[in-house]
Amino acid sequence: MSSQKIRENKMKKYKRHKYRKVDPKILEGMRKLRIDGLTLKDIGKKYGLSVSTVNYHLNPKYKEKVKERTRKYVKSLSKEELAERNKKWYEKVRKYWVKRYNTDPDFRKYFLEMVKRNFEKRRKGWIKKGLCSRCGRKRKNKKWMLCEGCRKVSRKKYSPKKSKIRK
Ligand SMILES: [Zn+2]
Repeated sequence: MSSQKIRENKMKKYKRHKYRKVDPKILEGMRKLRIDGLTLKDIGKKYGLSVSTVNYHLNPKYKEKVKERTRKYVKSLSKEELAERNKKWYEKVRKYWVKRYNTDPDFRKYFLEMVKRNFEKRRKGWIKKGLCSRCGRKRKNKKWMLCEGCRKVSRKKYSPKKSKIRK
C-alpha cells in the first residue's frame, strides 16, 4: 500500500465521528463531567465526540502530542500535497462562511457593514492619493474623481437612456 493510501485509511478511521466544534460551553461541561469522575468515553458519548477529541481538549499533554504529530505530518508533505491540503482547508472554511452568510441574518448585516466600512476607508485613501475613487487606479484627468475606464462604466450604468438615444 502506498503511503498516500495508508494516510487516507487513517483519515477514514478518524472521520467516524462527525466534526463538531468544541465551543467554550462544551469545554466547560466536559471539564465538569471529568471532575465528576466520568470516563473519556462517557463524556464523548454525551457530546457526540470521539474519545480522542475529548482527550485532546482535557489533556494538555495529549494535545501537545497531537499538535507535534500534525507539525511533523505537514513537514513530510510535498509542495503539491501541501497546496492540496491548503486548498481543501480553504474550501471548507469558505463553505462555512457562505453558509453562515446565508442563514444568519445578524452575521450578514455585520459582514456587509464591515465590507462597506473597509471600502469607504480604502476609497478615502485613494482620493487622498489622487487615484480613481472607484478602482484605485491612476487617473489622467485630475478634474474627475474616476479614471477613464470607470467613467465609461458609470456613464453606461447610470444613464442607459442617453446611450440608447445616441445609438
Ligand atoms: Zn477607476
